[in-house]
Amino acid sequence: MDSAPVKALFLDRDGIINVDHGYVGQYENFEYVDGIFSLMKRFESAGYKIIIVTNQSGIARGLYSENDFHALMSRVQQDFQREGISFVPVYFCPHHPEHGIGEYKKQCTCRKPSSGMLKQAAQEHAIMLPSSIMIGDSWRDIEAGQDVKLAHCYFVSSKTPPANAQLENVTQVSSLNEISVARY
Ligand SMILES: [Mg+2]
Ligand SMILES: [Zn+2]
Repeated sequence: MDSAPVKALFLDRDGIINVDHGYVGQYENFEYVDGIFSLMKRFESAGYKIIIVTNQSGIARGLYSENDFHALMSRVQQDFQREGISFVPVYFCPHHPEHGIGEYKKQCTCRKPSSGMLKQAAQEHAIMLPSSIMIGDSWRDIEAGQDVKLAHCYFVSSKTPPANAQLENVTQVSSLNEISVARY
C-alpha cells in the first residue's frame, strides 16, 4: 500500500448519482440527479475519496448483464472526467437472495444492508471508515454505513425511516443540494 489512509464519501448509485427509474442498465436511461456533480466536487476538494457502492439486482434478475453494467459505468466515468471529477471506484452487488438466476441467486455479504462492499473498498483503498460518510436514498444504504461505523450518513428521502431505525449520526435531507461538507 503506497497511499496514506483517506476518508471516503460512499455514494449509492440509483437515486443519488442517477434518477432511479428502476433497473437502469443502459446509458440512455441514465439521468443525472440535480446537484450530483457539484456535490462530488465539493467533497473531493475537501479530501474525500469518492466510491460508489451499488446493489444491482437487475443483473441477478437477468434484466442486463455485468458487461452492460460495465459499459454503462465507463460512459459515466467519462462524464465524471468531463466534469473534473477523478476516477471513481465502483463496487456492485450482482446478487439477489430470492430473484437471482443461477449463480446470482445467493445470500451474499455484499448486498446492502450488508457492508461487504464498504469493507472491500476500505481494504483496497486504505479508507478510514470512522471518518467516512455515506449518502443513500434507501435505508439499506444507511444500515450498511452504520454496520461499519461511518462518521455520518445522509438519508436523501422524503420517506420516514423504519420504526426500529438507529437515527444517531444520520441526517435526513430532501435533496443533494442540502448536503454540505462538514467536519466529523
Ligand atoms: Mg438507491
Ligand atoms: Zn452480493
